[in-house]
Amino acid sequence: MSDAPIIIIGTGLAGYNLAREFRKVDDKTGLVLITQDDGAFYSKPMLSNALAKQKAPDDLPMGDATKMQNDLNARIITRQQVSSIDTQNQQVALDNGEQLGFSKLVLAVGANPFQFPMEGDATGDVLTVNNLDDYRAFRTKLEGKKSVAIIGPGLIGCEFANDLAANDYQVNVIGPDEAPISTLLPTAAGQALQAALTALGVNWHLQKTVSAINNSDSGYELTLSDGQTIQADVVLSAIGLRANIALAKAAGLECNRGIVVDRHLKTSADNVYALGDCAEVSGLVLPFVMPLMQSARALAATLSGKLTQVSYPAMPVMIKTPALATVVSPPEQAAQGEWQIEKTEQGVKALYLQDESLLGFVLMGDAVSEKPVLTKRLPAVLA
Ligand SMILES: Cc1cc2nc3c(=O)[nH]c(=O)nc-3n(C[C@H](O)[C@H](O)[C@H](O)COP(=O)(O)OP(=O)(O)OC[C@H]3O[C@@H](n4cnc5c(N)ncnc54)[C@H](O)[C@@H]3O)c2cc1C
Repeated sequence: MSDAPIIIIGTGLAGYNLAREFRKVDDKTGLVLITQDDGAFYSKPMLSNALAKQKAPDDLPMGDATKMQNDLNARIITRQQVSSIDTQNQQVALDNGEQLGFSKLVLAVGANPFQFPMEGDATGDVLTVNNLDDYRAFRTKLEGKKSVAIIGPGLIGCEFANDLAANDYQVNVIGPDEAPISTLLPTAAGQALQAALTALGVNWHLQKTVSAINNSDSGYELTLSDGQTIQADVVLSAIGLRANIALAKAAGLECNRGIVVDRHLKTSADNVYALGDCAEVSGLVLPFVMPLMQSARALAATLSGKLTQVSYPAMPVMIKTPALATVVSPPEQAAQGEWQIEKTEQGVKALYLQDESLLGFVLMGDAVSEKPVLTKRLPAVLA
């Protein structure tokens, strides 16, 4: 199989950044990328602030598959799903029946939106946005409409709430949490964000879930767990994402919350690797851009013959809610410290401390300016 190309499944930020990093160190080895989408190269984080940036979906790609094919000196197979992987014979099978051999295989297959079971005759109309095609459908559905119900007050739900409310949509956000973005923010910080988004016009239905969605004369009627009803023209679900492990699992690769890989991004099979939203690296599933960029650089070196471990520095995430600028670096799950929260003049500074050591922070409003200094005090995520 030594003449066979390296195959990357997926042309999201993980797949394309890996290909770009690889081409910096190896311009000869055959490279094939396979994607079930159209292979456009775009920055997914822009999907939740494109309205504010006055970008239409077609403005977002930085290159189509043809441009990427030329830039990367690679074959890019678009709108084809990899249906199975044979790790023994080092082959992948495509939906169209084609079989391709690989010398090394990389799974960069991302994550899938999680769906919550709901009753009603309109559950099939609930939208999710996890790629450009989804976003096109969302923007088409928004045309001429006024109100959007967002299910899920997490990071992505809040970013969309800000983007939509700032563009004059009536926004209702529904979710079981006590305050927004409860997986990353302590309650007081979440409440500060809630207040800022409320000032922008966002309505909240927290500590409630959606039990049913039905068609109504004016659009959709959502019935909440306490019996209250909400009308909306468009319903967006932003409940969360789960690593896409189905293909890897069917191929016999070890999977847990993600496709299990070691610090070399290697799966349980030889010559098969994974990175990005689909990967669980040393027990960590981190569905953000910075970890996948670190992984892409390390894996590119490994694929070119220089075995390289991935390291993660502290990687604060900017939450794109201009109503209240927010940056968060959450402590690791097993941390035993406590939040120390201070309201600043126009913001919030929350430090997660354990025995005087800073293990995480949330900075909001004017406190965001302290990000560079505080980031230096944080431990590496993977040293
Ligand atoms: C709205 C939104 C806003 C975000 N904002 C931020 C932010 O501000 N900061 C931040 O750090 N992160 C943000 N994120 C997360 C970040 O965008 C992701 O971590 C990152 O884009 C994941 O890239 P990926 O390549 O791993 O996965 P994906 O982009 O999901 O790519 C997966 C690829 O695999 C392909 N694929 C899957 N299965 C198959 C198959 N069987 N056969 C062929 N192809 C297949 C897909 O077609 C796709 O090309 C945001 C995410 C969303 C949804």
